[in-house]
Amino acid sequence: MGRITLDKVTKRFGDVEVIPPLDLTIEDGEFVVFVGPSGCGKSTLLRLIAGLEDVSGGQIRIDGQDATELPPAKRGLAMVFQSYALYPHMTVRKNIAFPLKMAKMDQAEIDKRVNNAASVLNLTNYLDRRPGQLSGGQRQRVAIGRSIVREPAAFLFDEPLSNLDAALRVGMRLEISELHKRLETTMIYVTHDQVEAMTMADKIVVLQAGVIEQVGSPLELYKSPKNKFVAGFIGSPK
Ligand code: ADP
Ligand code: MG
Repeated sequence: MGRITLDKVTKRFGDVEVIPPLDLTIEDGEFVVFVGPSGCGKSTLLRLIAGLEDVSGGQIRIDGQDATELPPAKRGLAMVFQSYALYPHMTVRKNIAFPLKMAKMDQAEIDKRVNNAASVLNLTNYLDRRPGQLSGGQRQRVAIGRSIVREPAAFLFDEPLSNLDAALRVGMRLEISELHKRLETTMIYVTHDQVEAMTMADKIVVLQAGVIEQVGSPLELYKSPKNKFVAGFIGSPK
C-alpha cells in the first residue's frame, strides 16, 4: 500500500513560509511527479513526506495512519538519493543487503530479497563487483536496489538523474518507469525537467513558490492548463 495524503501541510524556515497550506492526495501505486522551477519547494515537499523535515503545520497520512510525527525510518518510505552513497569497499550484494543487515533480518530472507531486487534491476551478474567497477547507471540501480529490498510503501526520488549525462538520463528514465510497472508501488519523483514529468508521470503536480498551480495527468495539463504559468511550463500551445 502507498496512499499518501497531505492535509493543510505548511513549512516555514524562520519567518519565510516556503510551503503555504497545501492539500494533496497520492493514490496507491501512482507515479506522481512534482515539477516546477528551481526553488519552488519540490525538495522541501518531498522531505516533509519522507520525514527529513518537520512540518510547521498540518497532517501527513500514510495508508490512513497519521505519520506527521513519525521519524523517517518508521514511515515505510524509501528515499532514493541523487548521490549514490554506496559503500565503495562493499560488493553490490553487500551494498544492497546493507539496510536488511542493519535491521538484523534473517540471512535466508536477505538473500531472497537481494536476489529478487537484482533480478528486477538486471544486476544479477554484477552482485560480486564493487561500485567502482560499475557504470553511473548501474550504480544508480544499486542505490535503488537498496531501497527495493526494504519493500517500502512508496519510493521518493529527488532529481535522481541530474548527475547523469543526457543519453544515460533517457535510459534511466525508461528503467525507472519500467520498475514502476513491475513493482506497482507508489513513486514520487521530483524534477525541474518538463520532459521528464510529461513522459514519466501518471499525475503531475505543478508547483510555483510552494503553491500547487495544477494537478493532472500529462494530457490534462497539456490540453487544459489552468493558467499561463502551467501552459508555459508544460509547453502547451495555449
Ligand atoms: P526546489 O527543490 O524546488 O529547488 P527547495 O525545496 O530546495 O526547492 O527550496 C524551496 C525554498 O526553501 C527555497 O527558497 C530555499 O531557499 C528554501 N529552503 C530550502 N531548504 C531550506 C533550509 N534548510 N533553510 C532555509 N531555507 C530553505
Ligand atoms: Mg530540489
